[in-house]
Amino acid sequence: MTLLWRDQWLKPLTDGDAGTDRCALCGKKFGRIEFVTACDFCGIGVMHDQCANRHILAKHRKEVDAKIASHRDKPLHDFQ
Ligand SMILES: [Zn+2]
Ligand SMILES: [Zn+2]
Repeated sequence: MTLLWRDQWLKPLTDGDAGTDRCALCGKKFGRIEFVTACDFCGIGVMHDQCANRHILAKHRKEVDAKIASHRDKPLHDFQ
């Protein structure tokens, strides 16, 4: 089993920062408070956290696999 997790930081974005009020994947308007993130692998734009997970698994499976392989057998704190 391999688990991936994201950095647990929260950074409030203004509308201007995000450049959009809609999720780049599902196209739904963001609510008052949403957990959003951007894709690490392409410039698709700001998405719901859940949508980003779906997008990355659907479109970037190879990159994710490569990332997993490159971090395998390294100590947890040896972050590059
Ligand atoms: Zn979405
Ligand atoms: Zn992407």
